[in-house]
Amino acid sequence: MEPLKGGLLANPPETVKDILKKSDPDLSVASWGVRFAADLEGVLVVLSGMSNVEQMEDNVSFMKDFSGLSEEQLETIGQAREELAKIPLIPCTVCNYCAKVCPQNIGISGTFTARNIYTLFENMERALHTENWQTTVAGKKKAVDCIKCGQCEDACPQHIRIRYELEQAAELFGQK
Ligand code: SF4
Ligand code: SF4
Repeated sequence: MEPLKGGLLANPPETVKDILKKSDPDLSVASWGVRFAADLEGVLVVLSGMSNVEQMEDNVSFMKDFSGLSEEQLETIGQAREELAKIPLIPCTVCNYCAKVCPQNIGISGTFTARNIYTLFENMERALHTENWQTTVAGKKKAVDCIKCGQCEDACPQHIRIRYELEQAAELFGQK
């Protein structure tokens, strides 16, 4: 599931896109994530959310005769991953273990997703949309409402400095 990380890998930063397009201009950027997942050992089915007929047609076009990735294609993916790793993202996997222990019901993973969107695309409107969705739709509290008890950090398998990152988020999103 989520071979494109909620659409993020279908529209990566330009430097990553360039690597993928240079390797094969005819293939969509999204195709790389889906084929990468399909190529993994033991994977029988890849579930990719599609929003329209074009996306479905694209997925069918490269998966209907898919027989695995070539060495060259794997190398391209390696280059794209290296490029992506240069971008200082918060390494949140959205496991939401932190959410289970937070007494304030802060939307921690959603806030980190919003921060990462801003880091990747410098698109404040899109980042704020994600940040605000949590409070208006998902009923979560904002980063600024964190009381810094630290319980979330004990639960986080990625050892993220959640309190610090939330403080940065509150500032970035104008909550202070
Ligand atoms: S430090 Fe903040 S985000 Fe973490 S559990 Fe406490 S209130 Fe929640
Ligand atoms: S526990 Fe850590 S990795 Fe998991 S959602 Fe919370 S911040 Fe992200």
